Formats: sequence, structure tokens, C-alpha cells
Amino acid sequence: MSKTIQAIRGMNDCLPSETNVWQMVESVLRRVASNYGFAEIRMPIVESTALFKRSIGEVTDIVEKEMYTFDDRNGDSLTLRPEGTASCVRAGNQHGLLYNQEQRLWYMGPMFRHERPQKGRYRQFHQFGLEAFGIASPDIDAEVISLTARLWRELGINEFVTLEINSLGSNEERANYRDALVAFLTEKEDQLDEDSKRRMHTNPLRVLDSKNPEVQAALTGAPKLSDYFNAESLEHFEGVCQRLDAAGIEYVINDKLVRGLDYYNRTVFEWVTDSLGAQGTICAGGRYDGLVEQLGGKATPAFGFALGIERLVLMLTSLDKIQNIRPQVDAYIIKLGEQADIQGNVLAEQWRDQVREIRLQSHCGGGNMKKQMKRADKSGAQIAIILGEDEIANQTVTVKYLRGQHEQQSVAFDQVPNLLTALI
Ligand code: ATP
Ligand code: MG
Repeated sequence: MSKTIQAIRGMNDCLPSETNVWQMVESVLRRVASNYGFAEIRMPIVESTALFKRSIGEVTDIVEKEMYTFDDRNGDSLTLRPEGTASCVRAGNQHGLLYNQEQRLWYMGPMFRHERPQKGRYRQFHQFGLEAFGIASPDIDAEVISLTARLWRELGINEFVTLEINSLGSNEERANYRDALVAFLTEKEDQLDEDSKRRMHTNPLRVLDSKNPEVQAALTGAPKLSDYFNAESLEHFEGVCQRLDAAGIEYVINDKLVRGLDYYNRTVFEWVTDSLGAQGTICAGGRYDGLVEQLGGKATPAFGFALGIERLVLMLTSLDKIQNIRPQVDAYIIKLGEQADIQGNVLAEQWRDQVREIRLQSHCGGGNMKKQMKRADKSGAQIAIILGEDEIANQTVTVKYLRGQHEQQSVAFDQVPNLLTALI
């Protein structure tokens, strides 16, 4: 036998036993996005490498060490997308969607980052992202954050997540702050690790969110970004907080939250959880008013976020929130004898016509009652619908409940659609 080929490390199959959870999560994401007037956009998975270098920033984890970059056959440098915002802005600019107009867009699909695979961190993972273009005021920041809060309520995980927010101010304010921070860090240089020493010169704000406790200790007494804000930036942030307060959305202001991508300004936020161990961020985003122009469009304010679907699925599973998810099969038809074999499929077709959403599996491959019942049970169906010679003679089926304590019952053919409807 030849050696079996395995999937690439960090790139996972989603097996049939898991896809129903994924589909449930995806359908909630789609529906809630449309509840707020967002429309779907689909972008290619491969883009020019320059797109990500220009948007995410040269001195970021993603661009420095996580991108899957390769040369196309003609020598062009291409990259498997590590995130969606850059592609979304590229598409918006290319098709004139952002010019003098508002857009509310969402996307969902695989992203690729060459990271060390572990629970909640993969090399191919899936994001749902959402971007609002053309609105500079804090109302849209709060509206999008409210949308994320609704997602957690609908998924039943709202008690297990915390919202952290911060403001990064404007580019100019950050530049002034940067000078003060570098001066502070220079004095503490001997207490910093190698990573932070390097970042101090390339991207000093990233030192603030270092995970190293010694670096964090060295940061005590560091200057605060908010001290460098002008009235407009302060007002914007207050506007967001005021609206979150009014909506009853609780949050923690974390002045060390700076995000790993360069394009953010003003509001940034993350939803974090303790339920996932080290990979505690399930959703992150913020305002990026400069990116559209930076990628060649007309200056357009923008606000968005991305969430990791694997981390949501892991959370739902670890919190035992998946028992109530509908199984892949609702009802299973057992056919005993030649007549039933033929008649069973005719009836199944009629019932599928009458109950459009039903997941009705009709047994194929023959076998006795015991074998067919085993299959019915394995399918996850709630009921087995048994059709034998007696049933055909009486124009009825025998219904056996496969879960819970219900008596077996006899149901007339024309009543079966009602029975099936009740299962959905
Ligand atoms: P982290 O700090 O966990 O590396 P990040 O800041 O790199 O996250 P973003 O680029 O903001 O993440 O992506 C948004 C969301 O996508 C994250 O909050 C997370 O839920 C998910 N995500 C990011 N990287 C991965 C990955 N390698 N595997 C699985 N999910 C991921
Ligand atoms: Mg990361």
C-alpha cells in the first residue's frame, strides 16, 4: 500500500460531524449582518503581495513572519490573504464602491497565516469580517460594536465574553506620542526583551501590548496616548462610549490595546474570553480612516472588525452550547419488502415537496429491520418512519422515536407532512 497523504499542518478538514455547528454559526453571522443592512462581498483568496505590505504594515507580525508568499509562474509576488480588510478595500476601490458613498459590507472565508499551530490558532483559519465605509461619526462605531454584542447573545455566549475598547487617536497624535514613548523606552531599554528593543525603533506602540510580564513591568509610568489627544479625538471616543452606555453594552477601557495592524486610528476594540486558554480574542477591529486613500482611493472613513470562526466553534463546544443544534437528518425512512422499497421513495419525494426544509433520509441498500434501525439511529434522526407490507395496505407508517421517551405510533400517509413539520 502506498503511504497516505496528510493535510498540511495547521490546515484542518471540517468533518461532517462538525459542519452542522459551522453552518449554524455561519447562518447566525449572515442573518445578524443583514439585520443591520450589511451586504456580502466575496474577494479572491490570492492577492498581490504589495496589497498586504502597504496596508497591514511592513513591521507587523503578519507581514514580517506570517504570510504565505510565493512567485506566480510569471514572477509576480502573490500572497494567500492573511486577513480580509485589505482585499475588501482593494475591491471597493477597484469597482468604485467607495467613491462618495456609504457601503456596509461583510465577507466570510479562509485566511492564511504561518503561525505555530495550537488550539485556536491555525495556518488556515476562517474569518467573518464586516466593514462600514463612508461614515466618520462615532455612531457607526457603536452600531458595529452593538452588532457584535448581538452575535454573542444569539450564539448564547454573551456571559463569557468581555468587550475591551481604546482609542488610538489620529496619526498626528500618535506620532507625537510615539516620540514621548520612544524617549521613555530608551531609558528602560535594559529592561526590555529583544523583540521589544527592536520594536521600539520600528513600531514602538506594539511594545505596549507585549505579552512578556517583565516588559509590562518596565512600562509602569509610561506616557499615556490619551494625554496627546486633541478635542476632536476625545469627543469621538466619548461619543462611542456614550452610545455603548445607552445601549447597555458593558466595556472595559484598556489603554494598552493597540492592535497588531498598522492601519487603525481612533476606536479599536476586542472581545476576549477566558474560555479558550491562551487564544482569548474572538473578535477584533476598529476604525481605519486612512486605509482607503493609502490604497489609492479617495479619503474615506471606515470602521470594521473580523472574528475567528474556529474560536467561536471551540467556545460553543467547550461551553456545551451545541446540544440543541439541529442534526443533519431529521427523519429516516425504513423500508421492509420489495413494495415498500419502491413506494417508500415515492412517498419520500412527496413529503420533500410538501415540507421544503425537511432533512429526510430514505434508506438505500436493503437489509432487515435491525440493520436499517441501526442506520437510522446513526444518522442522528429524531424519528424512524417504518414502511412495511401492513403499513402499505393500511396507508399508514409506523413512527418510532429514536430520542426521548415517546410511544411508537401509527400515522396516516397524509398526516406525515404535519409530523415532519413539527421536527424542524
Ligand atoms: P491573535 O492576537 O490571537 O494572534 P490577531 O490580532 O492576530 O489575533 P486579527 O488579525 O485581529 O487577530 O484577526 C481577528 C480574529 O481572527 C482574531 O480575533 C481571532 O479570533 C482570529 N484569528 C486570527 N489569527 C488566527 C489564527 N491563526 N487561527 C485562528 N483564528 C485566528
Ligand atoms: Mg496574530
